[in-house]
Amino acid sequence: MDIQRSQELFAEAESHIVGGVNSPSRAFKGVSGGTPVFMEKGEGAYLYDVDGNAYIDYIGGYGPIITGHAHPHITRAITDAAEAGVLYGTPTSLENRFAEKLKEAIPSLEKVRFVNSGTEAVMTTIRVARAYTGRNKIIKFAGCYHGHADPVLVAAGSGPATLGSPDSAGVTKNTAAEIITVPFNDIESFEQAMGTFGDEIAAVLVEPIVGNFGIVEPKPGFLEKINEITHDAGALVIYDEVISAFRFHYGAAQDLIGVYPDLTAMGKIIGGGLPIGAYGGKVSIMEEVAPLGPAYQAGTMAGNPVSMKAGIACLEVLEDARVYDKLETLGEKLEEGLNTLAKKAQVPIQINRKTGALTVYFSSQPVENYDDADATNGDQFATFFHSLLNEGIHLAPSKFEAWFLTSAHSEKDIDTTLTAAEKAFHAVKS
Ligand code: PLP
Repeated sequence: MDIQRSQELFAEAESHIVGGVNSPSRAFKGVSGGTPVFMEKGEGAYLYDVDGNAYIDYIGGYGPIITGHAHPHITRAITDAAEAGVLYGTPTSLENRFAEKLKEAIPSLEKVRFVNSGTEAVMTTIRVARAYTGRNKIIKFAGCYHGHADPVLVAAGSGPATLGSPDSAGVTKNTAAEIITVPFNDIESFEQAMGTFGDEIAAVLVEPIVGNFGIVEPKPGFLEKINEITHDAGALVIYDEVISAFRFHYGAAQDLIGVYPDLTAMGKIIGGGLPIGAYGGKVSIMEEVAPLGPAYQAGTMAGNPVSMKAGIACLEVLEDARVYDKLETLGEKLEEGLNTLAKKAQVPIQINRKTGALTVYFSSQPVENYDDADATNGDQFATFFHSLLNEGIHLAPSKFEAWFLTSAHSEKDIDTTLTAAEKAFHAVKS
């Protein structure tokens, strides 16, 4: 595949933009190098690059694009909003409508606030939980990405009862000392951490279905136990549903599983592809937030009419249950096809899938936590990734990322993907 123009643009980008990309996940570091492809158009399930190549897209903008690129209903909403002026610095009725729609779909959101990104949403839930409980420490789970605010860029200590260490230069040791990181799906480690720090814990931050070391579901009872132990200790449960809200059904993962947090952070899909974040939860906790309470949070762009209209339009499309039925049908076909081809090529893989989101791990062991995901074969993934890219199938360039299907993908797109995957598994084997 000729990607000469992408190569020229990447060289140019490197001279202007640090690392040539505006988010490190877009670089090809995790797939043994190569040139990120520069796109100029997205339509339905496809991306089109600057050299005139077409790709079946499984990145989905890292999650927000669930109805396909340039969905007509969402595009019209964005255009209408832009024509009415993009920012007023005053409230609008759109904010009320969108808040009401979110609350109807996710009943634990008694009150909400809109922000501009998932990072802001998570960061603020931590602040609010600290304000509400008067405590400082947070427990999170290893390998779960919660955005790039300082308190969540913290790596695990040497055991569940030890404090964290900075996971990025510029995060202070004092910040890291407020965070305890334990393995996902390991209730004993969680109990141990709560046993040591329980009365200092403000909140436990968890993705109810993990999306950031691939798709990993909680073991039966794991989330129930977290709620029980956390509430017994007088701390709050925060769900990071930035990936999972509206991903698997019309609502959040909490509504699917039937276990509910005190606060929820959201982003991605709820913006229909535009910048957005939102957080919400129990009234008594949300009343900590300014102007009612002492926990400050603000935003020039928060609740802007364009993101609101795009978000409402996206939810209007998703309200049709056939969207999720289709994601399930296509997801199942893709999973079965990939498993069959891998077996034929004698390449051991594991697929974790939930509806239209799946991860292909190169491993013969099941993946239930970050260490399992980390132990999977990255070299094999890199070979698989590049082989597929060369055939016009674009995955996210990391063994930890999910493939995101959209309602614009077709059975034919899955067949084309599987034909390319057959070649890619052979490339992995040889
Ligand atoms: N939380 C989760 C679970 C995420 O996957 C992400 C982004 O990938 C974030 C938070 C941060 O969201 P944003 O990139 O919108 O700041």
